[in-house]
Amino acid sequence: MTLEELTAFFSTLSLPSFRARQVWQWLQQKGVSSFADMTNLSKALRDRLAETCCIYDCRIEKKSVSALDPTVKYLFRLHDGEFIESVLMKYKYGYSLCVSTQVGCRMNCAFCATGKSGFVRDLSAGEILGQIHAAQRDESIRVSHLVLMGMGEPFDNYDNVLRFLRLVNDENGLNIGMRNISLSTCGVVPGIEKLEKENLQLTLSVSLHAPNNAMRSSLMPINRKYPLEELMRACRHYADATSRRISYEYTMLGGVNDSDECARELAELLKGTLSHINLIPANDVTESGLKSSSPQRIRAFAGILENEGRTVTVRRSLGGDIDASCGQLRSKHIR
Ligand code: SAH
Repeated sequence: MTLEELTAFFSTLSLPSFRARQVWQWLQQKGVSSFADMTNLSKALRDRLAETCCIYDCRIEKKSVSALDPTVKYLFRLHDGEFIESVLMKYKYGYSLCVSTQVGCRMNCAFCATGKSGFVRDLSAGEILGQIHAAQRDESIRVSHLVLMGMGEPFDNYDNVLRFLRLVNDENGLNIGMRNISLSTCGVVPGIEKLEKENLQLTLSVSLHAPNNAMRSSLMPINRKYPLEELMRACRHYADATSRRISYEYTMLGGVNDSDECARELAELLKGTLSHINLIPANDVTESGLKSSSPQRIRAFAGILENEGRTVTVRRSLGGDIDASCGQLRSKHIR
């Protein structure tokens, strides 16, 4: 709930607005997971709240710590017994958390593990926020950066994701700056068009993965609904209207989308628009049968894009030994 919503709710319980403010700060800023921890409230009030309300927090079911780099993967259990995963990464500039927006995913991209288990349900704004509080409590740290690149498609859960973004950005809450937040979409065009109008300073990432419709449709079913012409029209419009550079993600799949010709096609596709291309070495998802391109191929591909004047980086992979790398999130837990 926003502070306004909580205040309105408290008034139905005949509780004053300063109580709402206290409780909201416990929930949003300090991230406590029980009313009993709200020590500036009377015992009677804490008991009453515990009887009438519940806090849908994320319980740590399993925690995996990488031996390769400072990366932690969490398997969280939700109030209804469903599971989601989040990944905490330590960088020089601080801690970044990769959060999930849905239990499962409807998009079913060929190379991604999440889609393989199908879709279960959307996460509420509180459950997306709960992932940050759970990680912060567990590691006694503050998360400074967020990527909405965990399980799920953010634009398939638009309203809850927007509510979450506003809560996490609230200066009386976690106060994480929009400029420190990246949201990644597989290309849900109406979501891009709606986000453009919200006027937020976050970074929009678009998962491209192929430079033409035939290839993209074979890898990403969403392309049949919103083909590249429509997607690129929406992206160009977004970049023009917001003056924000879009980050295009391109997972490098050996022998599939990594030829010199693909690089030239990709450079052409992004010609004249504010863009940054992020090449992602593909991570293994056993069932897909797809493999990453070699480091040499990725370098050559990046070289062609650079020669064509595009800005390009190769993403460093973290948490490879704990299945925490891009696209590997998939709860193997069965209830
Ligand atoms: N649904 C959103 C966000 C989640 S996926 C989206 O599609 O953008 C985050 C990123 O990881 C996407 O770019 C996705 O395509 C990529 N990804 C998925 N599986 C991958 C894999 N096996 N190897 C590398 N990247 C992968």
